[in-house]
Amino acid sequence: MVAAGKRKLKELHFMHCPKCGLKLCIADYDMVEVNVCGGFKDLWLEANELDRILESKQ
Ligand SMILES: [Zn+2]
Repeated sequence: MVAAGKRKLKELHFMHCPKCGLKLCIADYDMVEVNVCGGFKDLWLEANELDRILESKQ
């Protein structure tokens, strides 16, 4: 039952802010999809998403 436990854990953390645990929302920032914390206090980016935003600023 280890696998099932791992999946449960993943579902629990999926789309939740790793910092405060609130649900994450998808937002558009310069046409790049980013994850915003429920309180809009934290912005979570994947490394390639940051690259795309920086590229669009050049
Ligand atoms: Zn948060």
